[in-house]
Amino acid sequence: MIKKIAVLTSGGDAPGMNAAVRVVIRTALYYGLEAYVVYDGYRGLVDGNIIQVHKEFTQDIINRGGTIIGTARCPEFMDPKVVKRAARNLKDLDIDALVGIGGDGTFRGLKDLAEAGINVVGVPATIDNDVASSDETIGFSTALNTICECIDRIKDTSTSHQRCSLIEVMGHHCGDLALYSSIAEAAELVVTHDHHLSDEEICKRLRKLRVQKKGHAVVVVSEKLLDIRALADKIREDTGFETKVEILGHLQRGGAPSAHDRILASLMGSKAVECLVQGESKKIICMYHNEVIVRDIDEALSMKHDSHEEMLKLVNILQ
Ligand code: ATP
Repeated sequence: MIKKIAVLTSGGDAPGMNAAVRVVIRTALYYGLEAYVVYDGYRGLVDGNIIQVHKEFTQDIINRGGTIIGTARCPEFMDPKVVKRAARNLKDLDIDALVGIGGDGTFRGLKDLAEAGINVVGVPATIDNDVASSDETIGFSTALNTICECIDRIKDTSTSHQRCSLIEVMGHHCGDLALYSSIAEAAELVVTHDHHLSDEEICKRLRKLRVQKKGHAVVVVSEKLLDIRALADKIREDTGFETKVEILGHLQRGGAPSAHDRILASLMGSKAVECLVQGESKKIICMYHNEVIVRDIDEALSMKHDSHEEMLKLVNILQ
């Protein structure tokens, strides 16, 4: 039976991480366990930046964006010697279990820690929604709402001035933020890995809009997919649209989590602690068809991201 649980946040920050940290601590205390936080992800684990916390620590954090316990990218964690040092830091404090809140990279680190003798459970939190094992990740809903709010504002001015707005959103390997926001914003076009359009095709479709006397257009593009400034030049030359590039950047990460993300984080974080209390380890908490389920870490990490056929079909109908 475990007696002490630690929690860390790792990878990119996501709104709702604080709600997850809160519920992990509260559930641990509910089951009579001591609760600890690790600052700055795996970096803090390696450096021994670990402190015991009480209920007061969880006050007024559910509504805060980012992560109050910090996060980091810690490439040294790929080295088994570094993982051993991190595991020893936990064992020196008699901490037997760890909840890791982050994406697939974070879960790979958890797997290595399990091999070094720590009980581990992962909770998916990343704005991109790029954890294949879970239908949804903590932070996605808030980031999507933020993007929609930004595009609403851009549309106010672009329609007034009859412009084409090329809007770059986050989601390096996963186009969900682009795909979902393009549907919610009735964008004229969307370009993602799963829905790729050549520059020529984009210009052709925009020329068609001009012929139809449509004076403005919104084109949503996933980050790092193409040279967005070169595309804007091409659209200007080829279609006559006055074209502006809008890179939303880190705006998309910040802000108070949506009610949806707070609840998702609370359900998943609590389940993570219950798994550990029941003696389970090497698990990932996932959403599957609107239910919280538990998957083995190896199964979770071997899954491939679903390309959301229904959403792609809808985009083809609407655009
Ligand atoms: P995001 O989706 O926001 O990028 P993530 O958890 O996938 O979240 P990564 O930067 O990939 O973010 O991983 C977070 C941390 O997990 C890394 O900085 C590293 O410390 C650890 N990590 C990643 N991959 C591995 C691995 N293969 N083995 C051990 N540790 C890893």
